Amino acid sequence: MFRERSIEIKTPEQIALMREAGLVVAETLSLLRSEVKPGVTTGDLDAIAAEHIRSRGATSNFLGYHGFPATICASVNNQVVHGIPGDRGLQDGDLISLDCGAVVEGWHADAAITVAVGGVSEALQELMRVCEESMWRGFAAARVGGRLTDISHAVESYVRSQGHYGLVEDYVGHGIGSAMHMPPSVPNFGRPGKGPRLVSGMALAVEPMITMGTIETDVLDDEWTVVTQDGSWSAHFEHSFTLTAEGALILTALDGGAVKLAGLGVPCALA
Ligand code: MG
Ligand code: MG
Repeated sequence: MFRERSIEIKTPEQIALMREAGLVVAETLSLLRSEVKPGVTTGDLDAIAAEHIRSRGATSNFLGYHGFPATICASVNNQVVHGIPGDRGLQDGDLISLDCGAVVEGWHADAAITVAVGGVSEALQELMRVCEESMWRGFAAARVGGRLTDISHAVESYVRSQGHYGLVEDYVGHGIGSAMHMPPSVPNFGRPGKGPRLVSGMALAVEPMITMGTIETDVLDDEWTVVTQDGSWSAHFEHSFTLTAEGALILTALDGGAVKLAGLGVPCALA
């Protein structure tokens, strides 16, 4: 699973370009969050994202990726990831996961959020909270000199500690840099202390997906949209991050992760 020798280590200059791409993604997702409301279509959101990325002089790494036809993935309710934007109108009470990436001078960033459309139940709010927090626990477990599955274990441990959620195993995080998807895979589960050693200049996307039910998924006939087999609703959060001598830098967070990492007692490169 881990191909340690092929992991790309970035220079500070390359990380700076990834941070530029990450800020474009962060801005885009922030903009999309503010536009999510009943009646808006997933296609509307896609157009907003495309325009913002273009306006910042960046390009989309999703558009055309293995033939993917849009700038964002928009996955509603029982859709876990990779939903294709279109004419579906959002309804009060829906959950929508928005996944977005950008490229600046050949360097990639990738992040995702799940947003409630109007009002949703406390159980669904909790689903989102647990998913996002598990991602942050993963970053907090990442140390230079540690091992990759320290992240995996922290994500899984947090999810398991919070209730009976389905922790999806079919899709995992990944290395990122001069391409969107690179070695190593970053599972959201497993024992700590395994896999490649974490070093300065490594960049990873951590992206837990959890459901209210099963971990089993299917892909729809559009060959992209991943849904839960039991129809249960799901959440997905993702950030791209890197490790530096000064601490972690969350490339796709507007503040570099400073506030959240401080809350977890972990140094942030921007703090
Ligand atoms: Mg990703
Ligand atoms: Mg993504």
